[in-house]
Amino acid sequence: MKPSMVIVGAGIVGLAHAVEGLRRGLRVVVVDRDERAVGASIRNFGHVCATAQDGFALDLALAARGTWLELSAEAGFWCAQTGTVVLARAEDELAVLAEFAAKRGDDQVRLLGRGDLDLPLLADDVLGGALLPLDLRVDPRAAVPAIAAWLAARGVEFRWRTAVTAVEPGSCARPAARSTPTPPSSPWVTTSTGSCRRSPTKRA
Ligand SMILES: Cc1cc2nc3c(=O)[nH]c(=O)nc-3n(C[C@H](O)[C@H](O)[C@H](O)COP(=O)(O)OP(=O)(O)OC[C@H]3O[C@@H](n4cnc5c(N)ncnc54)[C@H](O)[C@@H]3O)c2cc1C
Repeated sequence: MKPSMVIVGAGIVGLAHAVEGLRRGLRVVVVDRDERAVGASIRNFGHVCATAQDGFALDLALAARGTWLELSAEAGFWCAQTGTVVLARAEDELAVLAEFAAKRGDDQVRLLGRGDLDLPLLADDVLGGALLPLDLRVDPRAAVPAIAAWLAARGVEFRWRTAVTAVEPGSCARPAARSTPTPPSSPWVTTSTGSCRRSPTKRA
């Protein structure tokens, strides 16, 4: 059956699009040039820092936080609800944290005195800090493959070792000289190819 959504890139951004496509009942195909995700989402990543966002981005981050918790339970990967501790080494940094706490309230930002910071290797000049309890932590090397497997089990098709070199409305192309499988065509093509590596050429 012809896909209704083609996603180029199986890093966390591509997988997030695939989760949303699945939720909307789309027939999703994910294309990646490698045999598994090995990009930024495996090498860096892991801190779900929802609280630092603001405005509409905060609404999105809190919605994404819920999705992380759901996926962790369903796909079976570790997701720690530890929050983030932000340290302050100067009075003006403490003042910024106090302003942040006053704006967000105790549910999102809890001020900590130095005596509350029960941390190993705490530097002598740390004055205090804040706990951002809503932030999460995942292990990218476990979470990314687990989400891909969870999607595949629900009918999302993964075409690994398939490089895309051009995207046009409704289709994507492969290099003529290379023996990669042919990427599919679809009404929706989403490129999620990461910021650290070259993106496919986009033709008008
Ligand atoms: C040091 C560091 C720490 C970071 N820490 C965090 C953090 O704690 N929390 C956080 O949220 N973010 C963090 N980030 C940012 C985060 O890592 C990236 O924003 C995120 O991983 C990008 O995901 P992606 O899916 O866009 O890219 P990638 O994970 O790189 O995925 C892109 C995929 O596209 C594929 N691809 C590329 N080109 C093609 C092509 N032509 N055809 C087919 N496939 C292709 C690649 O093979 C790859 O699998 C950090 C970044 C850095 C540098």
